[in-house]
Amino acid sequence: MHIFNQALLARQAWRLLEFPESLCAQVLKARYYPDGDLMDTVFVGNASSTWQAIAYGLELLKEGIIWRVGRGTSIRVWRDNWIPRETHLKPVSLQGRCRSRWVADFLDDNGRWKLDELQRWFLLVDVDAISKIRPAVRNDGDFYAWHPEKTGIFTKVRIFAWKVATDCLATRVNKEKRSLEKHGNCTICGTGEENSYHTLCECPHARVLWIAMLECWDIPDAFHGDARSEWLFILLENATPVQRSLLLLLLWRIWHVHNEFTHDKSPPPVPASKSLLQSYAESLLAIKQFPNADPAKGKEIVCFSSLKPVKRRRHSDEEELAWQKSVEGWTKLNVDGSFVAETGEACTGMVLHDHLGAPVFSAVRYLQACQDALEAELATCMEGLALALERTTPPIVVENDSSELVSLVSARSHDRSRYFSFVEKLKCLLAMPREIKIIKVHRS
Ligand SMILES: [Zn+2]
Repeated sequence: MHIFNQALLARQAWRLLEFPESLCAQVLKARYYPDGDLMDTVFVGNASSTWQAIAYGLELLKEGIIWRVGRGTSIRVWRDNWIPRETHLKPVSLQGRCRSRWVADFLDDNGRWKLDELQRWFLLVDVDAISKIRPAVRNDGDFYAWHPEKTGIFTKVRIFAWKVATDCLATRVNKEKRSLEKHGNCTICGTGEENSYHTLCECPHARVLWIAMLECWDIPDAFHGDARSEWLFILLENATPVQRSLLLLLLWRIWHVHNEFTHDKSPPPVPASKSLLQSYAESLLAIKQFPNADPAKGKEIVCFSSLKPVKRRRHSDEEELAWQKSVEGWTKLNVDGSFVAETGEACTGMVLHDHLGAPVFSAVRYLQACQDALEAELATCMEGLALALERTTPPIVVENDSSELVSLVSARSHDRSRYFSFVEKLKCLLAMPREIKIIKVHRS
């Protein structure tokens, strides 16, 4: 039942953000956040259960919210998400001694960026991204929007779950209800009524993926012929928390494949979907399991693509040896990813450990359109490093298993490869006032 409530609440919270003038929003505002803004509210323990529930739904949304810049008077430069780009919607640059708190401080009266001010306080990577924003001065106010690129796989799967749960998926039966389409029959197989159960469990394209995943995952099979509207509830209710995550991942993937079919694209082959799902699951579980790992035994490095701990060879490389000696003051960032050539999708993970081997943060990303594995590694490396620079102060050693990546970013000349935009951004981050090393580790 939990997930259903969560789903409904995320939507309610969204309505509050979208229509702040609505009566409900007005009442809640007067009661619980008279001085402030919904996104910035700290929720008190004794608030009404309705409000607590909405707060819960709101947590789901926060991750993917981005400000659209109008006059910039409501957006906190250093704390809010407002820079539209793949990752890192806040500035990468640190506030330092800059006294400006609002985005408005960096805009002139005509709504144009004060470039000299930007260049003074922001790193190049931020200046580039900010100067591309066209403030909508005519709209006057700043407003919230949904930033889909930002949504990590957790969020994506959750949003998907609430859509299924609230039966909002754009299946043909639903469209028919709204008289958008004439028939409710499945366009893919032609034999079933295209409701959420048929689409996600019964239709042949769904079924083959179910069968493939039942071979490698310990999950209950939804194929019980019970196509009542609450089938998902029944399925999840009887599953363990891990099984629930796996089931949602699977359904999410099936929905993706379904959409490829209906949009006349060539759907990804089953083995590709299978390996992608396995790699997601491993990444998610690897990160969850990490806190129990014992760093003293050298297990602190999680290899995302295989779940096996990384082993170092006896190496003669001087730099690596020198680094190992000074390991105490350093944090260690590990990045890794897996790439599915057939579809261009990639799943990447990053984790930062302090010098005691305790995790500082970890993140998993789903990238929809990568050229190849190296691009996925570069993108992950960039995001991981940006996060590490923002959230920590000690020197950072970045470990990855691609020697190509290391040579690209350590080259002195201007990069002219097709990866140049990533390489240049990474070089920008590496040029920050922090000791950073990128090294290759050997995986057994
Ligand atoms: Zn079908």
